[in-house]
Amino acid sequence: MPKRKIKEVVVVEREDSDLSPPPDDLLEGGRKTKAEKEAELVSMPLAPRTLNHTLFIGAHISSAGGVHNSPLNAVQIGANAFALFLKSQRKWTNPDLQDEHCSTFHARCKDHAYDQAKYAVPHGSYLVNLAHTEKARTEQAYDAFLDDLRRCERLGIKLYNFHPGNVQCHDRGKAIAHLAANLDRAHAATAGSGIITLLENMAAGGNVLGSTFEDLRDIIALTTDKSRVGVCLDTCHAFAAGYDLRSPTAFAATMSAFDSIVGLRYLRAMHINDSKAPFASHKDLHANIGTGFLGLRAFHNIVNFPPFAGLPLILETPIDVRDDEGKYIKEVKGKAKTEVNVEDKSIWAREIKLLESLVGMDVEGEEFLMLEGRLARQGEPERRRLVEQIERVREKKERLAKSPRRKRKKNGEVEAVVDGEVDGAGEEEGESELSELEEEEIEGLDSEPEPGDGDETQRSDG
Ligand SMILES: [Zn+2]
Ligand SMILES: [Zn+2]
Repeated sequence: MPKRKIKEVVVVEREDSDLSPPPDDLLEGGRKTKAEKEAELVSMPLAPRTLNHTLFIGAHISSAGGVHNSPLNAVQIGANAFALFLKSQRKWTNPDLQDEHCSTFHARCKDHAYDQAKYAVPHGSYLVNLAHTEKARTEQAYDAFLDDLRRCERLGIKLYNFHPGNVQCHDRGKAIAHLAANLDRAHAATAGSGIITLLENMAAGGNVLGSTFEDLRDIIALTTDKSRVGVCLDTCHAFAAGYDLRSPTAFAATMSAFDSIVGLRYLRAMHINDSKAPFASHKDLHANIGTGFLGLRAFHNIVNFPPFAGLPLILETPIDVRDDEGKYIKEVKGKAKTEVNVEDKSIWAREIKLLESLVGMDVEGEEFLMLEGRLARQGEPERRRLVEQIERVREKKERLAKSPRRKRKKNGEVEAVVDGEVDGAGEEEGESELSELEEEEIEGLDSEPEPGDGDETQRSDG
């Protein structure tokens, strides 16, 4: 059976039958004005904010339409902290931050009591690799990075999270030194801003920087101004990279290792995600809290760990709605009529409340055991699917390693390659062909925040 992708489209119908173009202040898909919709986010949130909690839990929310929309989206889900994109994450060039958006962002943070210096943590662009040593590439990356820091300066944001990048020059030490030098430059260019650049730990190994605590330590060690650098610890990435958080003992050992290798004083923010992929799988696949391989016990450890109190704790969990068969439900959105996954932000609202409720909860008690069991059961099909998929890819890779190496030609034919020599004679495309599709399937499942199609800033998947 050939693989086919079946697109499911759920068209969200307008409430009225008037097909004339809406006035400027009308939003797609509804009759409410922009102002009315904004007011609704605040007056009818999906969950009320918990005030005076020891923890500041939130999510990577959308800043589609402009960064000034992010505080309202945070209120909507009852968040006490939030992450956002400051501009499109898949484009090198972006329009400048508008003065009006900037002042509205300040006003809204004030109105809704978000101290953006402490509890708004933008996520950097996926394109930027400050460890790239090639001149043109590093300048492009540096300019985009510095541009983000300048936006932070104007918005009063002091914590900025980014991926350390990857080694392109076959020399890890050189790449790390290069990254640290770029950070130094960016810190010097924004002297006096007090912005702390946060290295995020990564799931993947190999050329990717930041999947070990030693990498983070080595990068920090080479930066000049240690007050300008910190770490944002992602629980899914840590677990996938081989740092266990599940039992109280394993959690304590991981945090103790972090403290001795990097230093807890550098920990300034957290990404709170469960993992769809198993321990030490090096796959970056975020799961909803309690449904993944970390399980609810890990999050009980996390929220009850005193050093995390007061830090921004950001969910990057999936909120895409699926049907009974596990397929994404789609809707058509925007002027360009693009097909996007239907999202349910109440998932974040519930996860925030769940995490807050775990503080001080008795893990032997009925309430915890019920929650733990229910969430684990809920995630079971997805965990099984991922394990099977990873296993399939591994088996195929093994088979491929044993058989003659093959190379796909542009016309789709497969040639056998033996010891670097092409031998096209008598080989058929068959079982041992590279399972690129499956590889892509796994790699593509990463639920790190993904950009949407907005003009200035983007929605996120978490
Ligand atoms: Zn990230
Ligand atoms: Zn993350």
